[in-house]
Amino acid sequence: MKSPLAPPTRLLLGPGPSPVDPSVLEALGKPVLGHLDPAFIAIMDETSDRLRQVFRTRNPLTFPVSGTGSAGMETALVNILEPGDRIVIGVNGVFGARMADAARRAGAKVTMVDAPWGQPIEPDALASAVRTDKPKAVALVHAETSTGVRSSVDLVRREIGPAPLLIVDSVTGLGGIPLEVDKWGIDVCFSGTQKCLSVPPGLAPITFSPRAAQAVADRKTPVQSWYLDVTMLRKYWEEGEGGRAYHHTAPISMIYGLWEGLRLVLEEGLEDRWIRHQEVGEFLQAELKEMGFKLFAASGHRLPQLTSVTLPKGVSDDLRGRLLNDFDIEIGGGLGDVAGKMWRVGLMGFGAKKENVIRLVQSIRALI
Ligand code: PLP
Repeated sequence: MKSPLAPPTRLLLGPGPSPVDPSVLEALGKPVLGHLDPAFIAIMDETSDRLRQVFRTRNPLTFPVSGTGSAGMETALVNILEPGDRIVIGVNGVFGARMADAARRAGAKVTMVDAPWGQPIEPDALASAVRTDKPKAVALVHAETSTGVRSSVDLVRREIGPAPLLIVDSVTGLGGIPLEVDKWGIDVCFSGTQKCLSVPPGLAPITFSPRAAQAVADRKTPVQSWYLDVTMLRKYWEEGEGGRAYHHTAPISMIYGLWEGLRLVLEEGLEDRWIRHQEVGEFLQAELKEMGFKLFAASGHRLPQLTSVTLPKGVSDDLRGRLLNDFDIEIGGGLGDVAGKMWRVGLMGFGAKKENVIRLVQSIRALI
């Protein structure tokens, strides 16, 4: 018989997953309950309630989708869009392009509004496409993990006006930088557990505004995905006549983990957590600049929780392998055109600590 599983202990400073707080790991190991057990339903309700606080929303329809951040993206798009619907999507990196791909697969007519990698989405450019297309929805990525750029969702809503539904990917934003679902007029916002919430990958928190939920209820065609159909999922997540309706077996242990991860966020205080990410991210960015790395994201739009840098002369991308093997530190490389030329360093959730920056910087210095 093989010995028990013993993965190495790494310091996760890549674009995700992020380091997990020991109390979340403990929660994952608690006894499994049945998914319709009233004791579990109480945990589900608390989880949704905590998600509302972290999303800054009063939306009743707020819950974690079973699946990673991409499942959240699909849930948003396939529920809102029907074949032939128009959507305008801001694309300034890998994840905006993925939304366009998923929207096309849902049969929508997609207009992409591109911005150069490293730049935020221009609210004016989205507004101009909205005037021409009169779309049902507009979508953009709040925190583009492929480039380290933050786009201004509040300004986007102001510029596009109140009509289109606004869909926001905040997979990397939630719990790390300011996000105000209600105040900014976001209709559907989805995230993932493995970034600034510091819970392992496996759930995708999502929230629908009342008018987005109504748009789903008013569909003329069934949602193309059975598994992600919110008209059915909400009968499990919301109390209805006769209680809760079984749809699929909830990933019990992951919901325990999220419950605990959100408890930690609220115990720290959401605003204090934003400040912590900001301070630690700026500290890392200053250190990397001093070592000759160039910050890739436009000034004023840099994410503190995900720093993208281009490599100075004499530093090879191979160094990432040595950081992992010799120092047990994971950082990310570039995606697409910048593969081999860029590093992406995540300081997310439990990982956003000055001591981690110091350990990383000392390790890089030892290798170059
Ligand atoms: N959107 C953004 C901005 C992301 O960073 C990611 C993952 O890195 C995703 C969507 C997809 O999430 P997942 O890989 O958890 O499916």
